[in-house]
Amino acid sequence: MTSHQIRQAFLDFFRSKEHLIVHSAPLVAKNDPTLMFNNSGMAQFKDYFLGNGTPPSRRIADTQKCLRVSGKHNDLEDVGFDTYHHTMFEMLGNWSFGDYFKKEAIAWAWELLTEVYKLPKDRLYVSVFEGNASDGVPFDQEAWDLWKGIVGEDRIILGNKKDNFWEMGDTGPCGPCSEIHVDLRTPAEVAEVSGKSLVNNDHPQVVEIWNLVFMQFERKADGSLIPLPATHVDTGMGFERLCMAIQQKTSNYDTDVFQNTIQVLETLSGKKYGSGEEPFADIAMRVISDHIRAVAFAITDGQLPSNVKAGYVIRRILRRAVRYGYSYLGFQEPFFYKLVSVLSAQFKDVFPELTAQEEFVAKVILEEEKSFLRTLESGLKRLDTITTTLKTKGINTIPGDEVFELSDTFGFPVDLTALIAREKGLLVDEAGFQDALAEQKKRSRQDAAKEATDWIELREADGVEFLGYDFEETHSHIVKYRKVKTKTGEEYHIVLDRTPFYAEMGGQVGDTGVLVLKGDDKGEREDGGRSIVIVDTKKENDLFVHISRDKNLDNILQNAGIVTAKIDLNRREKIQANHSATHLMLSAMREVLGTHIGQKGSYLNDEVLRFDFSHFTKVTDEELAKIEDRVNEKIRDNIALDERRNVPIQQALDAGATATFGEKYGDFVRLIIFDPTYSFELCGGTHVPSTGKIGVFKFISEGSVSAGVRRVEAVTGEKALELLRDQEAVLAKIKELLKSPTDLVKAVESLLDERSNLQKKIIFLENEKIQSLKTSLVANMEKHKTFNLIVEKVQVPSADSLKQLSYELRDQIENLIAVFGAEIGGKPQLSVFIAENIVQETGLNAGKIVKELAQEIRGGGGGQPFFATAGGSDASGLDNALAKAKGLF
Ligand code: ATP
Ligand code: MG
Repeated sequence: MTSHQIRQAFLDFFRSKEHLIVHSAPLVAKNDPTLMFNNSGMAQFKDYFLGNGTPPSRRIADTQKCLRVSGKHNDLEDVGFDTYHHTMFEMLGNWSFGDYFKKEAIAWAWELLTEVYKLPKDRLYVSVFEGNASDGVPFDQEAWDLWKGIVGEDRIILGNKKDNFWEMGDTGPCGPCSEIHVDLRTPAEVAEVSGKSLVNNDHPQVVEIWNLVFMQFERKADGSLIPLPATHVDTGMGFERLCMAIQQKTSNYDTDVFQNTIQVLETLSGKKYGSGEEPFADIAMRVISDHIRAVAFAITDGQLPSNVKAGYVIRRILRRAVRYGYSYLGFQEPFFYKLVSVLSAQFKDVFPELTAQEEFVAKVILEEEKSFLRTLESGLKRLDTITTTLKTKGINTIPGDEVFELSDTFGFPVDLTALIAREKGLLVDEAGFQDALAEQKKRSRQDAAKEATDWIELREADGVEFLGYDFEETHSHIVKYRKVKTKTGEEYHIVLDRTPFYAEMGGQVGDTGVLVLKGDDKGEREDGGRSIVIVDTKKENDLFVHISRDKNLDNILQNAGIVTAKIDLNRREKIQANHSATHLMLSAMREVLGTHIGQKGSYLNDEVLRFDFSHFTKVTDEELAKIEDRVNEKIRDNIALDERRNVPIQQALDAGATATFGEKYGDFVRLIIFDPTYSFELCGGTHVPSTGKIGVFKFISEGSVSAGVRRVEAVTGEKALELLRDQEAVLAKIKELLKSPTDLVKAVESLLDERSNLQKKIIFLENEKIQSLKTSLVANMEKHKTFNLIVEKVQVPSADSLKQLSYELRDQIENLIAVFGAEIGGKPQLSVFIAENIVQETGLNAGKIVKELAQEIRGGGGGQPFFATAGGSDASGLDNALAKAKGLF
């Protein structure tokens, strides 16, 4: 079976078991503060398990793009060295949300593996949770009995809490799991050692392929477990490992999932994969063919490489790949970007989002590669300097912090540093490196640390009803709340059953406002206040979390009853003007710049709108003006908002609606239309009732964010007017300062001319002064047998002039020793010059001398043996310093 057929068979199998098949969520996790990237199939369904929403079906199956390079699951360092861990991989999964449980999950898994895929039964092992007394969770008897009926006792392994008990996080749903392992060794190997003894022992051919999680408990913040009201199934099967098993290979990289890329690498490098002659070339091909998937799909789903957070993770994966190519495959020029088209062709039916953005993704990677290849060279130079210095000192180990700096700043993983070091006969302090790394990890953990209590549930509610498209205030109940300690203080997170507050999403900031308490209930605040101030609204998965920094709310929240939830309408109106303007602008950009313009990021609040988009050159002033004109024309047309809710996604896309890659859309979407022939977008944000409300639109900046991505910022309405007024005020002030000239521009130009003429004059005069100074210095010079001595306090404009003076005198007088003192800007300065030949003959050292003299002016300095300078803080010591100098020669 080809990998395509294997994937399809999985989906078909579960469709036949009445599962709804859904598309993979984007690789980049949105609205989940605990995750950067989706790292398992269940991530997109988290809310259903938490009870914050209803799934479209109680049975779902899919293939999910996963990335395990940060946080709880981090397999990065293993990738390429082993043959079955990837950064990005596909996880095939089937789910039951309060529907079927262990019996069906186990039977179907077995049926699929042995009857559809025809994996040999005697090569499969399963594990069952053994129980944990201290946690109060029993042995999973139910799973044991079910498996016993299928595979018999001798193929079941008992597993401990680490391998066989799954938890969503420190708190939340959890339960025992059963894993299925496959033994892919040769018959001879099997005859010698039983597969059972190798399960969970990191054997590359005895690997876990499928994990079936049975969610039946909930973990509370105090560590206790309570049974869940409804039980769920969450399974995850590694697609690439499954292909290895079915295609009877011993490495994921030998399957057709990776072979296309590896063949291209063979052609580009002229090396053969798997020949065993150059183990590091093999590792490099594995690393690269793996990493291109992670990088290309992350960019596709909206995560561009950058210097921070998720963007930095992607940049590091990219660099790891480029570096392996550079060191072991001889790629001195960009090559990584060339692999995008291979992936695009291979996945066009599964993940068409990559194919749609192929050119953009390749371009971003190319630019990243170019810039890293420059760092790589400077990193290698840095490593050179380090090794030479160490050698001269007779040290043979590169200290851990240097190794860390190389990895952190230049993207050099330890293994590369170690390898280069070895070539130079040096070792690296790996333990020291690990310490530095652990230290950094600790720092970033502390930065992220947020401490939250359990949710305190006040009412039952099935999800939240968002009414903010139609209402600015609602009567609501508080469903639950919790207290969260952040770096800046304590905050309350409040969830309502219905709310007009828009939660930050799709670039639009969250609403602010108040929850007004009823005066007559016990909830009235001790401080007499009648409302809870909401400073922000954020989405956490599908929950709308209203954030308040008010103090001591527990009692009030618990007794609040019905509250009036009311947004700050004035602020919201400004926000929606910016949002609608963003839509009008995107259409105008497509008209003016071309249809390749795609949204790469957007942020808008009540002051400004910021928009990142794919475009490869600077947007010129004329183009900006054209876009601005077009948007303002549409504002003046006062087009009424045409909002359509619950449109089936396919219908919307077929009608030509603009969607943003990397956004996760449901089956039903909302359309925002300002004239169907002009602006037609999928959008969940809030908008003006008609474009006239935007008032006016004005760009304030245009620039580059990263390769292939530009950013514009603009303002609308009052803010635009404010901007114009501010600029007017600045102009008025300048006019006033220049005594109201008739032509302002000319006045400023002549001011600048005057200034540059004056500067020239100053330079000329200073030079002249130094020349006459020189003449008098030469006249006062003391002539000795072997040297000519000038020790003098001089008046010069800058410390640089001392150097100029000394150097010019050197060209004029042989065997010169010159010591100058000067007061510059109230601070004492000293310089010592000794002719090179004197330095060589006598060993005198200007650096040492200036240090000694500097004691008199309470300062320090240094330089070379023939010229050195010092600065100090006590100008009254200059005479003493010069007297001391005279005594020295
Ligand atoms: P392992 O112990 O092999 O790392 P895991 O316990 O981390 O696996 P799960 O979290 O249970 O795995 O994920 C479910 C399935 O996803 C696994 O059975 C495996 O087939 C696959 N899988 C997990 N991590 C990776 C990875 N880094 N690359 C490829 N497949 C993976
Ligand atoms: Mg793992």
